[in-house]
Amino acid sequence: MFSILKIIRLGRCLSGIRRGLSQSNPLTPRILAAIDFDKTIIEQDSYVAVSQLLPPKQCKELVNLIPKSGWLGFISRVLQLLHSEHKVNYASVGMRVRHLQAVPGMLRVLRQLARNPEVDLCIVSDANSFFIEEWLKQYAIECLFAGVFTNPACIQASGEVLVLPYQEQTDCELCPSNLCKGSVLEELISSGRYKRVVYVGDSCNDLCAMKRLRAKDIGCIRRGYEMYGKMAAHAGDLSCSVVTWRDGHELEMLLMPKIVS
Ligand SMILES: [Mg+2]
Ligand SMILES: [Zn+2]
Repeated sequence: MFSILKIIRLGRCLSGIRRGLSQSNPLTPRILAAIDFDKTIIEQDSYVAVSQLLPPKQCKELVNLIPKSGWLGFISRVLQLLHSEHKVNYASVGMRVRHLQAVPGMLRVLRQLARNPEVDLCIVSDANSFFIEEWLKQYAIECLFAGVFTNPACIQASGEVLVLPYQEQTDCELCPSNLCKGSVLEELISSGRYKRVVYVGDSCNDLCAMKRLRAKDIGCIRRGYEMYGKMAAHAGDLSCSVVTWRDGHELEMLLMPKIVS
């Protein structure tokens, strides 16, 4: 642990977590729009995309370790190998992330949500602050978000990217130990600030977040992806109303009429 602290002091630490949400007026009930990043805002999984900077054989060996090491362990090893064996530094990693495609229509959805003065827009993601901020900067949309809840990342003095866990948790089996999205949502909802919450996502840890939503809230599940496949088994666990969507165009059509004030 001592080395991590040293690295943080030496490197450029990236901000991006928990900014902004506390600044909204607590006396006026607001709408929270919380959105996953990988395969929800962007089309690909950013960790898989960055791992493809490694030679295919090395990449495949690391993918096989995911069940044991988890995604955070996977990307940490990928970033370490990229830097030490292949001389790929943070700038090249950032460039790879910046070139990832948005889900069609999703940039428009984000801009529309942020334009609504009642809405606090935030990202809840098991990616990391470096990847997310690089991508948002590419489209100049960092300013749309009141908060980004994700694993913090640092750039070490050597140029290697270091990703740290958002939290250490053992309470939730649906989520990895480094981030329970449900606990993030629970904290936001229990602030009492939100008359309505919208959550948009595609996978099982998004299901955990949606389980915390209330009857007046809306869960938006991406059709054809992991969570959609498990909906039948978990439909009884959800109190919120559910919208299913395939791309941003459809999400815009289904969601926007429901949150017009
Ligand atoms: Mg996702
Ligand atoms: Zn969880």
